[in-house]
Amino acid sequence: MLQISKFSIGVGDRFAHQARPQLRAFIKAAAQGADVVPVWNKSNREHTFVGSEPSSVRAAALAAVTELNWTKPWHVDADHINLDTVERFLAPSDFFTIDVAHFIGQPAAQAELDAFVARHPELIGTIAIPGIDEPLTITREAVTKTAGVYLAAAQAAGRIYRHIASRKGEGNFITEVSIDETDDPQTPPELLVILAALADEKIPLQTIAPKFTGRFNKGVDYVGDVAQFTREFESDLAVISHTIREYGLPANLKLSVHSGSDKFSIYEPIRLALPKFNAGLHLKTAGTTWLEELIGLAEAGGPGLALAKEIYAEAFSHSEDLCKPYASVIDIDYAKLPEPAAVAGWTSEQFTGAMRHDAKNPLYDRGARQLLHVAFKIAAKMGDRYLNMLDECEESISRNVTLNLYERHIRPLLIGK
Ligand SMILES: [Zn+2]
Repeated sequence: MLQISKFSIGVGDRFAHQARPQLRAFIKAAAQGADVVPVWNKSNREHTFVGSEPSSVRAAALAAVTELNWTKPWHVDADHINLDTVERFLAPSDFFTIDVAHFIGQPAAQAELDAFVARHPELIGTIAIPGIDEPLTITREAVTKTAGVYLAAAQAAGRIYRHIASRKGEGNFITEVSIDETDDPQTPPELLVILAALADEKIPLQTIAPKFTGRFNKGVDYVGDVAQFTREFESDLAVISHTIREYGLPANLKLSVHSGSDKFSIYEPIRLALPKFNAGLHLKTAGTTWLEELIGLAEAGGPGLALAKEIYAEAFSHSEDLCKPYASVIDIDYAKLPEPAAVAGWTSEQFTGAMRHDAKNPLYDRGARQLLHVAFKIAAKMGDRYLNMLDECEESISRNVTLNLYERHIRPLLIGK
């Protein structure tokens, strides 16, 4: 079976221009002894907004790994697909993120619900799980309730998995199931029930993306109780180890952290938790590279800076439309956003200071950064004018893309100080 390496980072690239500088961050990590592999991911939603095809993701990744002589594994992730959208991803992808959030809360047939509960007496009662201090106590009612919320989603994941397997052949791809794009986080006991249901579907699950406690807003730091996150994250790791033993799920099954870029305050707790369970990790960082493109443009000054300002001004005047699809993952105080007229007068240093994720910089503007995070549609509309400017400002963009991914993400997450 094609297996995902223990540590992997999802790297998104809206305009298929940054695979090389992204890969350089992994080469730097390897030089520091960190064995971590890139997974280029782009969701159906992003392809639709940008007007790109999944094959372009593979082409850009292949060019980068060839040019930079990357000999370790690398993958292309069909991110957040379902039965309706998977078709064009089948050929170029070898990693599939099956998104069943839409099915959460849809009722399963009563007979199937009853059969699930009857099939899993081991889920009911007191369950001692190594790594969780207090044994989990789960009542029959709780199992029935959780299965009522998630069984239809697990069954949908099974249907989508089998469809992909029928086309690509079993064992030829990596399977992730995502349940992160929903309202409520899943508790560790819920994760246990969900994994039992996914195992029933015989999905060779290698990564699972739950919704964690706290807010994972796009492009900015984690907002929530870090101590509580850490407890739940460790309990999730313990539950995963338990389900590998109990249900025969793949031994390399690991957590996938979506919207994982820029969550600086939880990287250390994650890094310290993983070895306790000999666990791996997948973390998706899609949007952060697009922001580094804008920062690189602005840093270049002249027409690059002018274009970055133009994108900001457009984003500002269309903020409502741009932000609507991301309402649950951004948190912007619109009244505090800088006016485009003021931004027009900014120097490179002011623009990059506002946008670069350095909370210690007094120029840093969390709201403006989130707005630009969701504003890639505007650059897409500019077409070649934007793409040509990426080429013109390649030096400053590449430098920022690599530095951001390595220094601010891979190093604190997997290597430490
Ligand atoms: Zn996601």
